[in-house]
Amino acid sequence: MCLSGWGRHKTTETRVVQNEDLVAAAKVSALCRGLGRSYGDAALPARQEDIVAITTSADRILSFDPATGWLSAEAGISLYELNRLFLPRGWFVPVTPGTQFVTLGGMVAADIHGKNHHVAGCFGEHVRSLRILLADGATVTCSDSHERELFCATIGGMGLTGHILEVEFRMVRIPSPWIWSESERINDLDGMVSALKRAALDWPFTVGWIDCLKRGRQMGRGILMKGRWANPSEAPARPPQLTQSFQVPSVFPDWLMSPLLVRLFNFAFYWKHWRRQRRGIAHPQKFFYPLDNLRDWNRLYGRSGFTQYQCVLPHADDNGPARRFMDRLTSLGCASFLCVIKDSGAEGKGILSFPKSGITIAVDMPVRGSRTQAMVDSLNEVVIAESGRIYLAKDAFARREDFERMEPRLHRWQEVRRRWDPAGRLRSALSVRLLGDHA
Ligand SMILES: Cc1cc2nc3c(=O)[nH]c(=O)nc-3n(C[C@H](O)[C@H](O)[C@H](O)COP(=O)(O)OP(=O)(O)OC[C@H]3O[C@@H](n4cnc5c(N)ncnc54)[C@H](O)[C@@H]3O)c2cc1C
Repeated sequence: MCLSGWGRHKTTETRVVQNEDLVAAAKVSALCRGLGRSYGDAALPARQEDIVAITTSADRILSFDPATGWLSAEAGISLYELNRLFLPRGWFVPVTPGTQFVTLGGMVAADIHGKNHHVAGCFGEHVRSLRILLADGATVTCSDSHERELFCATIGGMGLTGHILEVEFRMVRIPSPWIWSESERINDLDGMVSALKRAALDWPFTVGWIDCLKRGRQMGRGILMKGRWANPSEAPARPPQLTQSFQVPSVFPDWLMSPLLVRLFNFAFYWKHWRRQRRGIAHPQKFFYPLDNLRDWNRLYGRSGFTQYQCVLPHADDNGPARRFMDRLTSLGCASFLCVIKDSGAEGKGILSFPKSGITIAVDMPVRGSRTQAMVDSLNEVVIAESGRIYLAKDAFARREDFERMEPRLHRWQEVRRRWDPAGRLRSALSVRLLGDHA
């Protein structure tokens, strides 16, 4: 079967098995894969001969306690399915990424963060236990109180410490299934960072969109979006219907992402928000998953595919790190519709999890051969100088030496990994590229 990451620029022919055969597969080299929404090579095998175990058929809910919200489920269940079942019943996951087409296992393995990271942390903070199939075929249940090192190395461990079979985590009670949202047009980067900080005090969900082609005084201009669950008195009486999605045609021409078209789109998107502020009830799907409405939207980037670069940079009173990063990004002329900024809360328990206190910026870029590698190298140079780091679930181009310079935690994580997989059976294309695993 031919697999690729969500960015579609690298494909691999490989042997695929379903979750049921995982125990047998674990005895040889195998990697788990959920719904393939990581952008780069995290869910691709180290070599063609390796086995990729697709987890999506392991999708049962094992228990749910409506008194406390504790839910236990198999790791292949999708977030879409959890939303379909729980949202109308007044429950939601504690943390959601920007798409619902991910599996529970993928959410733990990447230790995903959402628009509420400043109040809720990563998904892993809400996980009580994990049942894991180890590289030697044994299973172990780990938690904060039992095999804690394995627990913390698996949360955000990109599938490299064991195959997550079951996840126990706590759902959150919500007052209604609708969102009350407000948005605000912002003139520049300083305005955006301070508006994010202000909004974080009152709003559980915050995120900003940036026009990443603007330079000079307008650099960082964009739209700030804030949201909270609507109270029953504000919310429509009917439950939100899951809307139909539009299918993107099979392949788009590469020129669609030309700087001119992106400039026009960004201009229109910014000025569509001609009123400085807007507020009202929003559909949860549109608020949390705006891109899910365009099925296979990753084809928009043409045959060469795309990558997403996401980093976190520490806070500074003068916004220096974020400014220097945006200076570099805009000077590279990276034309992108999607550039998102968010404030990131404190580091969580995942030894290798991405977020830490600061500002995170994510930008989609069409892949243009060696130019893309040069852009990523250049952005990584700034991130290293500013003591930031990158997100592995998005990365496809970082170099091993750069990653090592960003990650003082790597040594500790590798120690735990080696303890549980001394033969180095669990590998991925990402672990070959970034961690020096043999292919
Ligand atoms: C449109 C879009 C928006 C996104 N928004 C966000 C966001 O806001 N925040 C965020 O944090 N992320 C975001 N992501 C990234 C996404 O949440 C992660 O990449 C997530 O891991 C994808 O889950 P998946 O099931 O598709 O996993 P895959 O992509 O299939 O796999 C991802 C990694 O998880 C491992 N893995 C998967 N299942 C298991 C398992 N059962 N056991 C062990 N390892 C496993 C794989 O080996 C791989 O390393 C977004 C992605 C897209 C496409």
